[in-house]
Amino acid sequence: MAKENTEKIIVSAKDRTMCEATQQMLEKARRDGVKLDLDRGYEMKPCPIGVESACCKHCYMGPCRLNPRDPYKKVGVCGATIDTIMARNFGRNVAAGSASHNDHGRHILGLFKGIIDGKVKDFSIDDTIKLERVAKSLGIDVEGKEVLQVAKELHDELEKTFSNVEGEMPFTRLAPEATQELWRKEGIMPRGAMLEVMELMSRTHIGCDQDYNNLMKQISRTALADGWGGSMVATELSDIMFGTPSPTLSEVNMGVLKEDQVNIIVHGHEPAMFEGMLMAVNDPFFINEAKARGAKGINLVGMCCSGAEMMSRHGVPHAGSFGSTEAVIVTGAVDAMVVDIQCIKQGLAAVAKCYDTHLITTNARAHIEGATHIEFDERDPRNCTDAVLSKAIARYASRSMPIEIPKQVQTGVQGFTHEYIEYMLGGTFRGSYSPLNENIINGRIRGVAGVVGCTNPKVKQDSIHIALVRELIKNDVLVLQTGCSQISLAKAGFLVPEAAPLAGPGLSEVCETVGMPPVLGLGSCVDNTRILIAASAMVKAGGLGNSLADLPVAGCAPEWMSEKALAIGQYFVASGVYTVFGIGFPSIKDTKFHNLLFDGLEKQGYGKWGTASDPIEIARMMIAHIDKKRKQLGIDKTRERTLVDMSDRRDLAS
Ligand code: SF4
Ligand code: SF4
Repeated sequence: MAKENTEKIIVSAKDRTMCEATQQMLEKARRDGVKLDLDRGYEMKPCPIGVESACCKHCYMGPCRLNPRDPYKKVGVCGATIDTIMARNFGRNVAAGSASHNDHGRHILGLFKGIIDGKVKDFSIDDTIKLERVAKSLGIDVEGKEVLQVAKELHDELEKTFSNVEGEMPFTRLAPEATQELWRKEGIMPRGAMLEVMELMSRTHIGCDQDYNNLMKQISRTALADGWGGSMVATELSDIMFGTPSPTLSEVNMGVLKEDQVNIIVHGHEPAMFEGMLMAVNDPFFINEAKARGAKGINLVGMCCSGAEMMSRHGVPHAGSFGSTEAVIVTGAVDAMVVDIQCIKQGLAAVAKCYDTHLITTNARAHIEGATHIEFDERDPRNCTDAVLSKAIARYASRSMPIEIPKQVQTGVQGFTHEYIEYMLGGTFRGSYSPLNENIINGRIRGVAGVVGCTNPKVKQDSIHIALVRELIKNDVLVLQTGCSQISLAKAGFLVPEAAPLAGPGLSEVCETVGMPPVLGLGSCVDNTRILIAASAMVKAGGLGNSLADLPVAGCAPEWMSEKALAIGQYFVASGVYTVFGIGFPSIKDTKFHNLLFDGLEKQGYGKWGTASDPIEIARMMIAHIDKKRKQLGIDKTRERTLVDMSDRRDLAS
């Protein structure tokens, strides 16, 4: 077993994660002499210059390091100021994040084309109603047309998302007119994703765009090309091909692993391979094969964003978030972990080796040294999935590791969508966002918050997510969730209607009336676009202003870590949403670039950034912003009246 020195680790596992199952596995890993990301994260002291983005390595005259405590004292060798350096660094992060989501979206579009052309036979168009609705929303005439014809026209339209070199990205049409007008006026309406990412990379080269204000425009444009581009294509087409989720009960946490079954974990981001695995594990041949080798069956489980998506769509159990992917292998019960792209830590390879688990990469764009590569091809999915199954079954039959599976399993309702929120609050025949708006206007719901994103071993896993959401719902803020954040809250038991009493009086009344949880899980990180569409529908329903920036809403990624998170944050800000990041932010307070992000953008009509590390402070900032928007809309007094009325009613009832 390849072991590392873990002697130095003195911090308690309870201080590294709130997740009891992950704690148990961290303790076991330490006993086994295996170092996990949670301990590496504790030991790694980030560079104090890089953490505030005060260094540049965009050319070999440098790298140049400025002093974050005296940022205007020096410039880089080329003369770049701290504002240029921070803006370029931020821009390259956003370019990478946007590229990742657009790469995901483009592959989903390719799969869609494969189905239309008949080259992909194992997948099909599942939700023809959504196909028509999305096509119509983009102005495609569907009347009297065959499904495949509508699909072809939708494909051709959405291809522009990536390939346009002029014009406007198709899905930007779904944004409120006033928001679109702002983007046009400011010259940040995205054209095509490839162009936007390319231009941002070029403008951040040495000696190119050296005015942080001008650079900011391309940063916003590239971020919008993510949210209203590749991410939205990924979500909408995945729904069309694999089915639009609706609320479903799902289990989360490591207790979903089964000692007496072949356990296969799928982790990553694109749904096609996971869908292929789902088909393959139900093949009687493999079920019999597993039984012949002594297993009771095959247990397919998800993790991270792939897991969140499959849990939402099909109720597939979920074993944990980004912060638990190494820890889960320590159970010894994972016969294969099958991965595709993004957020797959290289450290998995070493941990998998220690516990004799097969780590299998499946995507040509993401190999890992030390892992087995079995490529997944949508035109022949069984070639990959069957090989994975054979390996996993063989590993089950020859398990040599002691098995220790934590007992924790929580059940929650997953699978909300912007379509389902409309139906749930508006009813079958008058599906509409008006009832949600009415409850916001009358003050029962104070506002809406998106709490999303990763976990980060810089902080105790799940702690900020849970404390923040608890405080928001207590203050009548309805919370929408995606990604690993929703796994944190699902494990804490918030994604059930029975959590309604944890909410303030107004929100809990709405939840109890409708039978919904105060925290709604919407899927993976690309599914943040469901929040954009829901927010646009709120503006359209009336009474809450004309643009996304008018809404009493706010967003947060409390334990963020990835470049994708920065791209998501920036597309929400550029769409008009106040967005707070926990842990820290890569800019230096009181510099011109920082002030632009945290104040100036709002003055230009967008949202703005905020940052704080304490969850109660984050909640206070988000609620203050929501109240500010309520006041601007003239609905601040209604809330006071509604809540007084409600407490009066309670007094009368007692
Ligand atoms: S681009 Fe300028 S600031 Fe950056 S490394 Fe080169 S010389 Fe230094
Ligand atoms: S939420 Fe963050 S860590 Fe989790 S899968 Fe998505 S991007 Fe990765």
